Amino acid sequence: MTRVGVFGGTFDPVHVGHLAAAVNVRYSLSLDRLLLVVANVPWQKAGRRVVSPAEDRLAMVEAAVEGIPGLEASRMEMDRGGASYTADTLAELREAYPGAELFLVVGADVVGDLDTWERVEAVRDGCTLAVVKRPGSRPRLPAGWRAAVVEVPSLDISSTDLRARVIDGRPLDFLVPAPVVTLIRSRRLYSESTDDSIPNRIHHPGRHGRPGRL
Ligand code: ATP
Ligand code: MG
Repeated sequence: MTRVGVFGGTFDPVHVGHLAAAVNVRYSLSLDRLLLVVANVPWQKAGRRVVSPAEDRLAMVEAAVEGIPGLEASRMEMDRGGASYTADTLAELREAYPGAELFLVVGADVVGDLDTWERVEAVRDGCTLAVVKRPGSRPRLPAGWRAAVVEVPSLDISSTDLRARVIDGRPLDFLVPAPVVTLIRSRRLYSESTDDSIPNRIHHPGRHGRPGRL
């Protein structure tokens, strides 16, 4: 039976915490493929901060997984449009891979939010949860789910910190794959024209006058 994993995220930007978790989950669970699914509109984050355009976030994930066996960037939530719900993503994958066993990868910080997810029962019944440790969050398994903790290297890296690093001019190297650093620079992502304190504004790189600091 094909074993397919889904690792959803905003990936704004993708970093080696995501990637080390992904390759180790794929290895530990013997997944045939693990899809890094880029959220179109991450409903949990919408209105709370500026989220980079999905095409930019996808380009970074594509660059990050290039040449890594079994890891794939997926634009399925972008193509579906609107708010991204994992229940819909799993339903789509069930059609794309009939009979496949589906695994949903989440960091320990996400487990506590599962109850708030859209159609959470469909998610719970449609997959096995793979919980990866994350510094600062205690991994626990939600009751009623088919779930396991998967050991991965514990890397204290977050996209939030990386965005702050760009604004401050601090280095990204070794926290983000080199081709992703290049993309962040060439597309001027996270430079001054983005402001985490301004809600509901889409960042259009290069349209706000002053070039970024990079
Ligand atoms: P942000 O700070 O913007 O929330 P993030 O670093 O948490 O970004 P997300 O795109 O929100 O990244 O996370 C996608 C998934 O990756 C989530 O399940 C999250 O728990 C997991 N994840 C993120 N960073 C790590 C890490 N360093 N180790 C393990 N899992 C991680
Ligand atoms: Mg997060």
